[in-house]
Amino acid sequence: MQSMRVSLIIAAGGSGSRFQKGMNGHKPFRACPSKLFYSLQDEPLLIHTLNAFQKISQIAETIVAIPQEAEPHMRAWAAKHKWKNVRWVRGGKTRAESVLNALKKSDDRSPWILVQDGARPFVPVEKVKELFRQANGKTDGVILAHRVVPTIKQVASSGEIEKTIDRRLLVEAETPQLVRRSVLEKAYEENPNALEATDESALLEAMGAKVKVLTHEEWNPKITTVKDMQLAQAYMELKSGSETRMGLGKDTHRLVTGRKLYLGGILIPFEKGALGHSDGDALMHAVIDAILGAIGAGDIGEHFSDQDRKFKNMRSEKMLKAVLKEASEKGWKPVQVDTVILLEKPRLGNYKKWIRLNLAKFLNLEEDRISIKAKTAEGLGPEGEGLSLTCEALVSMKRVSL
Ligand code: MG
Repeated sequence: MQSMRVSLIIAAGGSGSRFQKGMNGHKPFRACPSKLFYSLQDEPLLIHTLNAFQKISQIAETIVAIPQEAEPHMRAWAAKHKWKNVRWVRGGKTRAESVLNALKKSDDRSPWILVQDGARPFVPVEKVKELFRQANGKTDGVILAHRVVPTIKQVASSGEIEKTIDRRLLVEAETPQLVRRSVLEKAYEENPNALEATDESALLEAMGAKVKVLTHEEWNPKITTVKDMQLAQAYMELKSGSETRMGLGKDTHRLVTGRKLYLGGILIPFEKGALGHSDGDALMHAVIDAILGAIGAGDIGEHFSDQDRKFKNMRSEKMLKAVLKEASEKGWKPVQVDTVILLEKPRLGNYKKWIRLNLAKFLNLEEDRISIKAKTAEGLGPEGEGLSLTCEALVSMKRVSL
């Protein structure tokens, strides 16, 4: 196929208030109101949709129509996912208005516009490429569709069946929909009811343009209800495998004067600190060992030898980062961390929340997936006598799709 330049528009401007009510108090990601910002395997639904298109080379740019509340977060997501040429515009009152807002901001060097519902995260990428192959001089649009399987009845207002529709003639329209830019622009200009259209092909049909359907059998649902969201979650787990692993870590350091006391990357003011080759952060070391344990990759000493000068006084965050990278390359990510800090003095009280926040940041986890428990040893043993501190960590890891 010769090169084809396409601008992708993702319609994600809706408010989804009906959906929110159904979520029974589950909060969407950072107070964005729409279902598109609820988490599906730790990422907002919309992010899955966006990511699916990133590997399609014909897509020269992506313009997402989003509600105002989501705008501050898009920049962070774009950086995190290293999206190229993704921009966003304010969503409209209707889906068609959102698409129009995006269309106006799109690069007119793209003769084709691909429109996608933000709420369809399981983009059948191979079928999208097939859409591109089928777009040629003889057509103004090609859309993905499903053949209608159920028996469809036409019913009168009295409730009586008037007739059974021949289902061989019916398809259910989905997205993405690939449409010729010039025809779509003309439809918006000339059709007074354009902003009410529920998909792009309806706009093109109304003008007598030629739109083909590409039927397929992949699962490409539009997530509309809470039940859909639950099914989508189960489907993702099925696809990525739900294998979970546990890892255990434990670390003890002597407490001496003239050293700093770091726990989970937080500097704790105290007259003594942890003796060690690196920064002596026993909690970080326990977490690192637990991660290494879960992925069967040895222990911290094998990765960061205390005989190696380059690790001298090294901050443990760097080691944690390296270990997380190794885990991710092997297809694993932490999903929950539980820890115990055994330390007689000082009392950690207020610091626990900072330690938790810091670990949540480094592990890229929600705070409620991290637990920090601080205990004394009741004056018993070396910890009890204030000679040392010991930390333990239990980490659960989940396989992620590569
Ligand atoms: Mg250590």
